[in-house]
Amino acid sequence: MLVDNKIVFITGASRGIGQAAAVIFAKHGARLILHARKTKSLQQTIAKIQEVSAFSPFVVTYDVEEYDSLKNAFQLIRKEIGKLDVLINNAGIMEESMLGMIREDMVNRIMQTNLQSVLYHMQFASRLMMRQKQGSIINVSSIIGTNGSEGNAVYAASKAGVIGATKSAAKELAPFNVRVNAVAPGFIATDLTNHYKRGSLEKIVENNIKMKRIGQPEDVANVLLFLASDLSSYVTGQVIGVDGGMVI
Ligand code: NAD
Repeated sequence: MLVDNKIVFITGASRGIGQAAAVIFAKHGARLILHARKTKSLQQTIAKIQEVSAFSPFVVTYDVEEYDSLKNAFQLIRKEIGKLDVLINNAGIMEESMLGMIREDMVNRIMQTNLQSVLYHMQFASRLMMRQKQGSIINVSSIIGTNGSEGNAVYAASKAGVIGATKSAAKELAPFNVRVNAVAPGFIATDLTNHYKRGSLEKIVENNIKMKRIGQPEDVANVLLFLASDLSSYVTGQVIGVDGGMVI
């Protein structure tokens, strides 16, 4: 069991990569703190966890755009659980728009959800982890943050920002034995990408993905597990691509 008894907090755990991570971490012995906007949206994740683990997850609910609710959730975690071993900053949104059509509300929404919330989660988690002198923070960036993509300047900026924040936090927190890494998924089959039509999906696979398949949430979750576990005890400040060879 790779994360036996570790307290693991996953944001955006209702579906997609967050849900897959929750199930895989539960299988490996983690005690989970699961986040979603509403408890109800975690029903499916919790049912899947119950099939593989005896531990009931601790649930926190808030919109990651709301600073006060986010802060209150950490106060609750400190009071009720008192420690945190792993934070996975997974919640995120993708909205596409060519540069000429970008609007202020869209920029604010994407930046608050994908970047600002990551900074605040790291801040509150690191306070707990520094005291414990151990911890692992993993931020879910994107291949679009490392390489860009037409129609995605805002999303790319938010995910590139996550990488800068990851590397800076890694430098700050290394003396406290707190590791900070990021993953940069390529094209993963989740609700975030389900607006792509079948024809364009086939083209993406054929032209861009060397392994000739779309990634599954579990492909990403397994790398998150590695970065959370002691197998990666000397790895910090890294960005690991999980993209089937989109960038090689
Ligand atoms: P998804 O849409 O299935 O999951 C996103 C999760 O974030 C959901 O649980 C959603 O409810 C939550 N979320 C979004 N905004 C929120 C808010 N304001 N408050 C609270 N929760 C919020 O998509 P996914 O693909 O599983 O995405 C997970 C992460 O992976 C995201 O950060 C995304 O940017 C990143 N990513 C995905 C891909 C891909 O191809 N799917 C590629 C690269 C990076």
